[in-house]
Amino acid sequence: MSSKTDAAGKSKDEFLANKPADMTLDQWITSWENQQIGFHLTSVHEMLEKHLHLMLNGREKIRVFIPLCGKAVDMKWLADMGHTVVGAELSELGIKQFFTEQNLTYVQESVPGAPNVEVFKTPEGRISLFRCDIFDFSMIIAGQFDGVWDRGSLQALSTADRQRYSKLMITLMAKGCQYLLDTLVCTNKDYNGMPPKISEAETRSLYGHACNVQLVDSTDKLSGKQESWGLESFIEEVHLITLKSDSS
Ligand code: SAH
Repeated sequence: MSSKTDAAGKSKDEFLANKPADMTLDQWITSWENQQIGFHLTSVHEMLEKHLHLMLNGREKIRVFIPLCGKAVDMKWLADMGHTVVGAELSELGIKQFFTEQNLTYVQESVPGAPNVEVFKTPEGRISLFRCDIFDFSMIIAGQFDGVWDRGSLQALSTADRQRYSKLMITLMAKGCQYLLDTLVCTNKDYNGMPPKISEAETRSLYGHACNVQLVDSTDKLSGKQESWGLESFIEEVHLITLKSDSS
């Protein structure tokens, strides 16, 4: 079995063979236990590096939210720049691995009024990772954010939950928030593997009622490998999402 991953960080097995398009919470926890985490990248995501200036929009030391964060090294990279980073992740193992692998000490605390949520944070509070189902997270727990780096969340959630998710994300956007959404788009009509299809139209319908949705990157990532899996197209898209109310 190949452990090689493609540019988007996924192995063939994780893409296609064993995982249904809609994974349950238990399946995600089991993936972490078995370290089937081909989505994890060991270096900062190229799209974040490329488009960080859009998220910052001239600002320094902002509060950034990373939903469904896994153990993304992007969080340490942002924190080292002086930003305050808040993540939300289902897997306690993933959160603990983040702190251990980044050589960071952490404290583990309960969250008043939220029995299903715990927070793991660096002593000075620069990085706080909330262990919870994203739907147990809210602005009451952690406030609102100046920026969002969202990579792989829509793919990770069931189709039925995506609308609920975008509604939640919009409530977490502070005035002036610059939200970068990274998605993978496959166009095969009959394709139902991983990653699930997220179309441009779906992104716009999820956020467009309350937000300006601007396509800022569309990069063809189709290689011989994905073609051998039967994919006709494989495009990584980045959208910049901002509140319509900011421009009125
Ligand atoms: N953004 C990360 C991880 C993307 S993979 C990165 O770029 O590396 C999706 C992650 O979301 C997994 O770590 C999985 O455990 C987590 N997850 C899946 N469903 C979730 C949910 N409902 N609430 C919180 N986290 C969830």
